[in-house]
Amino acid sequence: MSGFDYDLFVIGAGAGGVRAGRIAARYGAKVAVAEEYRVGGTCVIRGCVPKKLFVHASHFAEAFEDAVGFGWTSERVAFDWATLVANKDREIDRLNKAYIRNLEAAGAELILERATLAGPHEVHLASGRRITARHILVATGATPFVPRHLPGNELAITSNEAFDLERLPARIVIVGGGYIAVEFAGIFSGLGVETVLVYRGDQILRGFDDDIRNHLAAEMAKKGVEIRTRSDVVRLERSGDGVRLTLDNGSQFGAGQVMFATGRIPNVASLGLEKAGVELTPHMAVKVDAFSRSSVPSIYAVGDVTNRVNLTPVAIREGHAFADTVFGGKPVAVDHSLVPTAVFSQPEIGTVGLTEVEARQGFGRVDIYKTSFRPMNHTLSGRDERTLMKLVVDGETDRVLGCHICGPDAGEMAQLLGIAVRMGAKKSDFDATLAVHPTAAEELVTLREKWTG
Ligand code: NDP
Repeated sequence: MSGFDYDLFVIGAGAGGVRAGRIAARYGAKVAVAEEYRVGGTCVIRGCVPKKLFVHASHFAEAFEDAVGFGWTSERVAFDWATLVANKDREIDRLNKAYIRNLEAAGAELILERATLAGPHEVHLASGRRITARHILVATGATPFVPRHLPGNELAITSNEAFDLERLPARIVIVGGGYIAVEFAGIFSGLGVETVLVYRGDQILRGFDDDIRNHLAAEMAKKGVEIRTRSDVVRLERSGDGVRLTLDNGSQFGAGQVMFATGRIPNVASLGLEKAGVELTPHMAVKVDAFSRSSVPSIYAVGDVTNRVNLTPVAIREGHAFADTVFGGKPVAVDHSLVPTAVFSQPEIGTVGLTEVEARQGFGRVDIYKTSFRPMNHTLSGRDERTLMKLVVDGETDRVLGCHICGPDAGEMAQLLGIAVRMGAKKSDFDATLAVHPTAAEELVTLREKWTG
């Protein structure tokens, strides 16, 4: 171990850090992982996992209504927020313990305190201890961003607090139009909260396929979410128990809570990166190469702190690749292309590959196949909800460049479509595949007519 206390010191026990620590330990490295909050990171503690549980919770309101069309009559149903929060906490505690067990079982040492960099091979713990390591991995994630100069911004909550509100407000305003804004708009609206989404751009979910964006916005509106686009919040003020907002067009309205979902910023503050000589990108993320190595050869970084593709599975892949590269003797560069993703909006989005606009920019001839239909269960439930599916195809080679779905289980479909698209599937391969009937996904292999607009 050439005189260092550890072969690897990981700062941050989230998805990327834990994976890197476990795999490095399995390769025989002496590993310590420091965590200042709770083992599991954003995804487990206050991100993907509790969010998905809340999405499930919010779906029940519609499920009870839909059941009537299938012959069910239900007694009065009621929802208790405190029960949901308590049950969610229990599940998170279970996962938190499982993460700790897995790290320890792999032989990594867990240090439950804040660690900061003091040099290329040195970290300081909050308790004053100094530790040396041959390699240091920064896996500190990101934190919600709230516009700094907005008067009254201290009155707003972020997704961090949304999971543990003491009680549900009667009305909530969510600011932002990205993943978190649309997911929480669906959650709160489903749980009976009057929900307004305020977004500065023309349409929610910038960067996603335009048809999907428009479809989701229309479906959310049908479910009662009020979407105010081209609107910016200029001021927040306390008003009784709630908050009064002023928009840039001068209009004012009140809400029990205002939640900002205006992006996340890398956790680099006071980490000692400058002391160790680690360079940052213009977006204040740790600058790394394809092997997640920073400008200091002994210091690496993975996950959201590097602001590459900010998704849990990407952080896990980067953490694993780092351990393979540095401790396993097999250099692995993570491929950040064709990342399938889901937005757990209501209805859900699943997508992989290029949007129509991106494809038209990069390819000579692009063919579009799309369909919109009423999911089968709604023929009896009577609910006015439609699913949209779209394939973006290279007209010259017939290769499927992108698949975009907005409808129930879209995330599950995107996972499998991700394999096909990564393998270079052609539209003719989709056509040659027999349908699974009756499913929604069968529409993907029965799309025959090019969309002519
Ligand atoms: P996003 O980057 O997705 O969206 C941020 C939103 O806030 C955008 O609509 C942006 O507008 C808007 N915004 C940014 N700054 C301001 C500002 N100063 N004033 C008003 N609006 C502003 O971030 P999220 O917070 O939604 O999510 C963070 C990341 O977490 C995501 O990018 C994603 O990688 C990850 N995530 C993934 C999930 C999943 O996989 N299902 C779920 C949740 C999060 P504009 O478009 O104009 O820039």
